[in-house]
Amino acid sequence: MQRITILGATGSIGVSTLDVLARHPERYSVFALSAHSKVEALAAQCERFRPARAVVGSAAAAAQLTALLRAKGLRTEVDYGEAALCAIAADAQVDAVMAAIVGAAGLAPTLAAARAGKKVLLANKEALVMSGQLFIDAAQASGAVLLPIDSEHNAIFQCLPRGYGRAPADAGVAKIVLTASGGPFLTRAVDSLDAVTPEQACKHPNWVMGRKISVDSATMMNKGLEVIEAHWLFGTPAAQIEVLIHPQSVIHSMVSYVDGSVLAQLGNPDMRTPIAHALAYPERIDSGVAQLDLAQIATLQFERADFARFPCLALAFDALRAGGTAPALLNAANEVAVQAFLDLRIGFRQIDRVVRHVIETVAGGAASSIEAVMAQDGLARAAAERYIAGGPAR
Ligand code: NAD
Ligand code: MG
Repeated sequence: MQRITILGATGSIGVSTLDVLARHPERYSVFALSAHSKVEALAAQCERFRPARAVVGSAAAAAQLTALLRAKGLRTEVDYGEAALCAIAADAQVDAVMAAIVGAAGLAPTLAAARAGKKVLLANKEALVMSGQLFIDAAQASGAVLLPIDSEHNAIFQCLPRGYGRAPADAGVAKIVLTASGGPFLTRAVDSLDAVTPEQACKHPNWVMGRKISVDSATMMNKGLEVIEAHWLFGTPAAQIEVLIHPQSVIHSMVSYVDGSVLAQLGNPDMRTPIAHALAYPERIDSGVAQLDLAQIATLQFERADFARFPCLALAFDALRAGGTAPALLNAANEVAVQAFLDLRIGFRQIDRVVRHVIETVAGGAASSIEAVMAQDGLARAAAERYIAGGPAR
């Protein structure tokens, strides 16, 4: 029996994870669940999955959750805040942690799970983008096993040899090909993107996801973050990572080998497949996802990624090549810009301008410690907010 903590249980990935766990009650039990503000949704999850502990974002939310749980006769221990998130991630009773908080808020608890030597199921790509080598070092020092949940990275993991050690040359890997749907605006006239609404940006053609990653998919910053994520997970330099547009999202990514072989992982676009893969690894379990019907899909299309249409993709490659804290600056500026877009404070095409401004004006440095990374994250957020407050004529 594996005991699981889910960080971000009420989100898109959290809900899909609970769906898979519910199919295998003989294999998995839930130790702890967290949510930021959706207290009622978390209470319903607690009623169904009976975790020992639950963590929310504030004292008020904790009081509300406690009242809801006690009214149902549940004794789940309730707490709030970052230290409590780190505690449920690192608790000695936990075997595996699903890291599914969105954004930089997930860094501390995800790192706590890595430092505690847990099996870390990594959905929170922002945490790895920010902390890079520090995160990998923490996992290696503790013996934590990192299993990618992002569908592309999970696909690549499946296409690499068992025991792959972050050394592409040793495994005969020529390059990694990250597929990308291109999002909802792949073919829309670039000039018309000034006018798109958050609802249009969040309407992804193939995936139903949280709002932040949905906007990132529309700008393709999501793929940019994934390029950086792939670098840290698999040890591939920027020059050996290619982005390929594949609108159907059936091939989740590929590995090209020096002998000309290309291995791909295919499946219906449903996150329960990578979640089930990582949960059961190296075994396989039912995920609830329908078998792929290629005859019905009939056509798979591919095209090169257009860096002029998607400037965020170019900014992310630049940040990876620049190294140090550049990816943390990129990530922080993007988080602020996406929230400003969702709040109708800036237009869609200003997102990349905010990110570019921050990268060009905030001096980066060495990512020598988590504290150094967090300091740069704070500087980038402040610079992004100042730029946005400066008005729309940019
Ligand atoms: P979501 O917005 O649906 O859920 C986010 C979760 O994080 C919620 O449970 C929320 O309560 C929690 N949260 C938000 N802000 C928080 C804060 N400040 N402190 C603590 N908890 C907080 O997001 P999602 O789509 O499930 O994505 C989660 C992560 O997984 C992201 O990093 C995303 O990039 C990654 N991911 C998601 C998908 C997908 O299909 N949804 C695919 C690949 C990777
Ligand atoms: Mg992905």
